Amino acid sequence: MKIDKKNRKRKKLTALAVGVILVYILLICPGIRFRRQKSSVIEVSKDAAERNTEEKPEDKKEETLTHKFQDVINQAERLFLSYDYDGALDLIQGIEGFEDDRELKGKADFYQKEKESCEPVNIQEVTHVFYHSLVVDPERAFANQERDPQAVGNNQWMTTISEFKKILQEMYDRGYVIVGIHDMVREREDEEGNILFEPGEIMLPKGKKAYVLSQDDLSYYHCYDNYGYAAKMILDEEGRPTCEYITPEGERVTGDYDLVPILDKFIEKHPDASYRGAKGIIALTGYNGILGYRTDNSYLNINGNLNDDKRQWLIDNPDFDIEKEREQAKKVADALKEEGWEFASHTWGHIKIGDVTLSRLIRDTQKWRENVEPLVGGTDVIVFAHGQDLGDWGNYNEYDEKYQFLKGEGYHIFCNVDQGQYRVHFGRDYLRQGRRDLDGYRIYRNAAGKEDSVSDLFDAKEVIDSLRPPVPPLR
Ligand SMILES: [Zn+2]
Repeated sequence: MKIDKKNRKRKKLTALAVGVILVYILLICPGIRFRRQKSSVIEVSKDAAERNTEEKPEDKKEETLTHKFQDVINQAERLFLSYDYDGALDLIQGIEGFEDDRELKGKADFYQKEKESCEPVNIQEVTHVFYHSLVVDPERAFANQERDPQAVGNNQWMTTISEFKKILQEMYDRGYVIVGIHDMVREREDEEGNILFEPGEIMLPKGKKAYVLSQDDLSYYHCYDNYGYAAKMILDEEGRPTCEYITPEGERVTGDYDLVPILDKFIEKHPDASYRGAKGIIALTGYNGILGYRTDNSYLNINGNLNDDKRQWLIDNPDFDIEKEREQAKKVADALKEEGWEFASHTWGHIKIGDVTLSRLIRDTQKWRENVEPLVGGTDVIVFAHGQDLGDWGNYNEYDEKYQFLKGEGYHIFCNVDQGQYRVHFGRDYLRQGRRDLDGYRIYRNAAGKEDSVSDLFDAKEVIDSLRPPVPPLR
């Protein structure tokens, strides 16, 4: 019995022990397991949290800032490349939290450093080069030199596309940067309210040289027809200026057949070829319309005192609608301004400013105002035709009535033609700048060793078009 009791007691104890163990296993042990699991979860969460605070947010921020603001960053980079350091800095510093972002902070610091290393351009040493419409097809333009005066003119005054592209590249390689002519000027008002013209401030990296570019007579005159020039400026599918060209077979094609789209593409590829997106000055007459559009009032009267080529053009184009021509010309002009081009008067009738009477100048200016200004907008730049000028170099005679008239008409920047490397003169309230012709005459004479007037810009021997005939000396 005792044994039974003992056995029962042992059994009870055993059962109790088993129970305790079971309870332990079922309740406490899983509790421990739970707690460990819980604690390991906490640890994992803590790791994640630590990663969140130490890496993730930054990753996230970097990702967010550079991705979210990629367009702004690209825009800033483009401004920086075109020497607009403040514009680039404003964009980067305008991004909230840029200072905590290693990449953006580095960019801002770099822009600042580059800005501080720039030097002011000596405005007196800004050169100015000019072209006419470029020759697309030298064989058509230069044929029959011995008997066609237009072909002789094409050879003397025109540059071919191949020559222009080589000059553009070589000047870029030598550190030349296109600036706007208005960048050269700082206008200041004195105590009496007079506007004074002073040299402006252009800051460029060491070794860079500033130049102004202009293109004259961008009208595609009737006399250019069938000589291998573009026919008109038009807009491409993206609304950007390009050219229409008529092939020898009479097919109309679209493309980079003149200076404007070639330069636009070049600067797009090399933003550092242009100071803050400046392009060139387009100097326009009005008598054959502008940009290849027959926008002038004189086309309205076929029985009027028209030149033969205008009359022939009207006969060939019976559907002529001047309002349509003007509308299209204005659209192209607006797109040109959007691209950074500016317009100047080249006088309506391509007149000789030195030779004409005051009354002729007044009538001519009125025609420009009526026929050209409504399409391209007002301008304070006049580019004189035939290389003439109002007076000798230096200050204009303030009592000269033509000078007084042009000043009264709002012209403050006067350009002539001059082969001097730098020709910049500031009058009290105006700027004069001489321009260098980079045409067939100049390229040929330099390439042939007859003169040395462009070697600071390019090597004429490398540039000259192999299809260009010899250019005789001017008579
Ligand atoms: Zn001209």
